[in-house]
Amino acid sequence: MMTSTKKPAAIPTAHPPTVLGVMGGGQLGRMFAHAAQAMGYQVAVLEPAADCPAGHAAEYLINAPYTDAAALAQLAGQCAAVTTEFENVPSSSMAALAETTFVAPSSQCVSIAQDRILEKKFFVDCAPHAGVGPAPHLAITGLHDISAVPDVLLPGILKTVRMGYDGKGQARVNTRLEVETAFKAMGGVTCVLEKMLPLAYEVSVLTARGADGATVVYPIAENVHRDGILFTTTVPGPNVSSACAEQAQAAARVIVERLGYVGVLCIEFFVLTDGSLVVNEMAPRPHNSGHYTMDACVTSQFAQQVRATARVPLGDVRQHSPAVMLNLLGDLWFDAETGDASPVHEPDWAAVLALPGACLHLYGKDDPRPGRKMGHLTLIAPTLAEATAQLRAACTILRITL
Ligand code: ATP
Ligand code: MG
Repeated sequence: MMTSTKKPAAIPTAHPPTVLGVMGGGQLGRMFAHAAQAMGYQVAVLEPAADCPAGHAAEYLINAPYTDAAALAQLAGQCAAVTTEFENVPSSSMAALAETTFVAPSSQCVSIAQDRILEKKFFVDCAPHAGVGPAPHLAITGLHDISAVPDVLLPGILKTVRMGYDGKGQARVNTRLEVETAFKAMGGVTCVLEKMLPLAYEVSVLTARGADGATVVYPIAENVHRDGILFTTTVPGPNVSSACAEQAQAAARVIVERLGYVGVLCIEFFVLTDGSLVVNEMAPRPHNSGHYTMDACVTSQFAQQVRATARVPLGDVRQHSPAVMLNLLGDLWFDAETGDASPVHEPDWAAVLALPGACLHLYGKDDPRPGRKMGHLTLIAPTLAEATAQLRAACTILRITL
């Protein structure tokens, strides 16, 4: 078990208009910047690309590789605290920043979340306390591990241990021979083989923990993926029983506590066809499935990240409206019938915005590509049935098949 080495009382609060730093310039950094600025903070982003969603929003943009020592020193010197918007941030960079400024999440927590083997080992250790464990699995470091794969893990999913996202770096495998073929196709990098489980549906639990140990847990979210990418998030989830929600939320509390985590953490779970719960993975940052909180909760996940980073009290996680979040991918700019590779039309945002309860968020990316997250749309309404009806209307306008 890891605990913070600093005593809460020794950590000073960052007051506006001091600068909060964020590693990474993507849309999550952009929404962090908006939330920080709404609270009077300034924001500095460290990101290699000059043209990036967060860079357009932040007061300061440091263009440098994430491991550039001078850039890290500049960011640490400028900021009262630093966080990250992506889980693959080099943990050595988070450790370097932490030598001179407050950093949340810690490099240790980031290291666990970005390595599927360490993450699963942590979940296994948590299981007696959390009441929920990970899928049966085996680390695959070389061909000798493949011959030792037990039958119970097949059919399975081979996942690269590092750098996987949106279903990338994964292969479904039925036999040891297929494990071998997939392992070689992935370049022989260390992988984990997971038993293919009978999923009924998928949920995530968003949490935030302050440097003082205070923890908040958001309502459970039900997620639907399409082609490996999150398609919709619905809260409250139509399939989620209160027993399942309570179990997942209680497990999430144990996980953040045992991790000694500070910041926003999202934990993904599978609900199996027999109703049992399995923990899949965690993201040490705000999460796509938590975007609904921007419009449906008192405190958005980004405002919560600001609070945890600045060491001010965490906000109320109460959901005031049922919500459905729809990801807006670059595909929407292309002609679905001809498959024309050049963007042919801007989606009809005016028609979408005319829907009651429609909250449109676009990330300021100017080159749509299929599968690229360009924005999201949250439909909020007094009832889930109404929010779902508005989702259907939005999908008709956007020519998305539900
Ligand atoms: P993301 O970054 O989008 O969360 P990822 O690439 O990190 O995804 P996972 O979340 O581990 O990868 O897996 C992607 C999807 O594949 C899951 O949401 C789930 O639908 C399916 N999946 C993963 N592992 C299993 C499993 N053991 N059994 C059945 N389905 C699985
Ligand atoms: Mg996932």
